[in-house]
Amino acid sequence: MNEARKGVVLSGTGGIWRVHLGRGDVVEASMRGRLKKAREQSSEESTTLKLAVGDEVRVDPGDHGDWTIAEILPRRSKLARRAPGSAYGERLLAANVDQVIVMFAAIKPEPHPRMLDRFLVIAEANELPARIVINKIDLVDAKKTAARFAPYERAGYPVHHVSVANRVGLEPLHDALDGRVSVLTGPSGVGKSSLLNATFPGANLRVGEISESVQKGRHTTVGSIMLALPGASGGFVVDTPGLREVGLSAIPSDRLDVCFPEFRPHLDHCRFGDCKHLAEPGCGVRDAVGRGEIDRARYESYCMLLADLESESS
Ligand code: GDP
Ligand code: ZN
Repeated sequence: MNEARKGVVLSGTGGIWRVHLGRGDVVEASMRGRLKKAREQSSEESTTLKLAVGDEVRVDPGDHGDWTIAEILPRRSKLARRAPGSAYGERLLAANVDQVIVMFAAIKPEPHPRMLDRFLVIAEANELPARIVINKIDLVDAKKTAARFAPYERAGYPVHHVSVANRVGLEPLHDALDGRVSVLTGPSGVGKSSLLNATFPGANLRVGEISESVQKGRHTTVGSIMLALPGASGGFVVDTPGLREVGLSAIPSDRLDVCFPEFRPHLDHCRFGDCKHLAEPGCGVRDAVGRGEIDRARYESYCMLLADLESESS
């Protein structure tokens, strides 16, 4: 029992972190003093030492069943809401994320394409693959819904049309979640908790309930929470309220265009190197919109997000 163990950070409140050691074994740990101190120093070092949900850590046991986090292992990836070096410092939402899953309902609530585009841009800006889930197809004309989201498939995103209630289309999603760290996001009421319960039965995956208990805690900041999925290959799902906040501050405005994957083949055709694809002559992106190669609604999303970004940074 007196051995250091490796684990994954599931959540943290008020300096106490829940660390998953595997096979459902979860301990509470605090940061070792020296790590904590380094964290308070400014600049880059503090960014790398800031602990996040999803971080792989080495924990040391104490004499009285208490654990301390002795080391943060190198990160494979991260999901952040602010660019490093911005005025308020990077806002790290989760570490070691493999993919972002954006979930909407076909109806009830009505899908919000601008919000979908915003989530996808955040995934792209963090260089994370994204997939889209459209739930509740039992309530709509499935063909019409498929046509509505076809531009996203053409842009290269996997789109899963499912009905959790009728257990339609769930197997590919189960396989996509299994063994990976996924950020699952989308408006409330679209069926995220239902999806997890249906694809990974037997686990205590009441996402809403867990988030609520954190909100009710003494420490008012609502952080990200990671859930361990049951099953041999493991897999984790991150619920991060921070992703649903408004604003897109993680992206410099001149990098927004590459966050729309279907724009990329056309960017070299713009006459001006710093083309914003708004009113400039000889714009490859607008030409592609005119030819129907870029979906007009996605282009309009780009324009609106660009305006948001420029007003945020001024
Ligand atoms: P969350 O807030 O995203 O976690 O959404 P929930 O999982 O709590 O689901 C919200 C509501 O949608 C619940 O009343 C579910 O029963 C319902 N729901 C979930 N999936 C489906 C579906 O495929 N079809 C229909 N008709 N309702 C669903
Ligand atoms: Zn252009």
